[in-house]
Amino acid sequence: MAKPWILERTLEELKNELRAAGFRDFVACQVFRWAYHKNNQDPSSWSNISSVGREKLAGMYEWPPRPVLGMQGDAQGTRKLLVGLADGLKIETVLIPEKGHHTFCLSTQVGCPLACRFCATGAMGFRRHLSAGEIVSQVLTLKKELGPFAGQVNLVFMGMGEPLLNYGNLARALEILCATDGLNISPRHITVSTVGILQSLARLERDFPRIRIALSLNAPDAALRAELMPVSRHEGLDLLLAHFRAHKRRQRVTFEYVLLAGVNDAPAQARRLARLLHGIPAKVNLIPYNASPGLPFQRPDRAAVEAFRAVLLEKGLTVVTRWSKGQEIASACGQLAVFS
Ligand code: SAH
Repeated sequence: MAKPWILERTLEELKNELRAAGFRDFVACQVFRWAYHKNNQDPSSWSNISSVGREKLAGMYEWPPRPVLGMQGDAQGTRKLLVGLADGLKIETVLIPEKGHHTFCLSTQVGCPLACRFCATGAMGFRRHLSAGEIVSQVLTLKKELGPFAGQVNLVFMGMGEPLLNYGNLARALEILCATDGLNISPRHITVSTVGILQSLARLERDFPRIRIALSLNAPDAALRAELMPVSRHEGLDLLLAHFRAHKRRQRVTFEYVLLAGVNDAPAQARRLARLLHGIPAKVNLIPYNASPGLPFQRPDRAAVEAFRAVLLEKGLTVVTRWSKGQEIASACGQLAVFS
């Protein structure tokens, strides 16, 4: 039988397994420190564990992260990595340098079943969910890519797939990533971006109350949203917004709004958007559309983006325009896809 992959294990599970194999409990913490904190997945090099112990550990699990098959970078330092999975499928994961910190943009599914009209991942269809280990592995790989840089890392679940359709594996990955003996990433530095699958959203907020939520809204009313995002026919916008209105949370919710020329970028639509968000502690992220071959949309010009933003500001909303990084290497929002 194939050996289990260490990256699938939470610290608790590892403790139990290692205890059953005759190890003391602190060994599981040492394993987490080496594998995550030091990003070293080669037990034979772990100096503070006995040679017998190292050999036993090496034989119990499969250790390395999934391999990088290719990389593209742009002039600003954004790097898109192509990662090979054990079954031959591939995913993309993105490293985005920002002022004073780095952002890792992570995938949660191979492809995506939601088929949002403006998204390249949606156009490739759905292959399968990623396991917790395959999610965690992206973080280790991107950290290796960064080198010894020890600055702040933010995780954003904005790569391929809909995280809340894969809640079990997402939650397990978050538990592993946040473990203090491991990467020790604070939930405050993690954003889960979602179309809003209400049941799983409520679970996420309960299980990880400090995590940041970004909701991909993309339209100022339910009818246009349902046209652009078929999932919205089942996951009603009214219920979703009522949820955000009713639940007090520490952080404001970010509403993402992809601006599509002539579709959802008119000033009247900005006014409608402001009305829609009334009463919700919100921040709006405007994302001028990033083009992908075969998708029938255009990016609005700068003046249209500014006019849209001006209306929202006038209505008292906090607005950030995200001129996405990595467009020329197709690594910006909505451009991730692997067709081979
Ligand atoms: N499925 C999740 C996470 C992936 S998409 C979600 O929908 O939130 C991450 C963000 O990119 C979403 O806000 C989405 O609306 C946006 N996006 C998708 N396609 C885009 C495109 N072509 N240009 C700009 N942003 C896009």
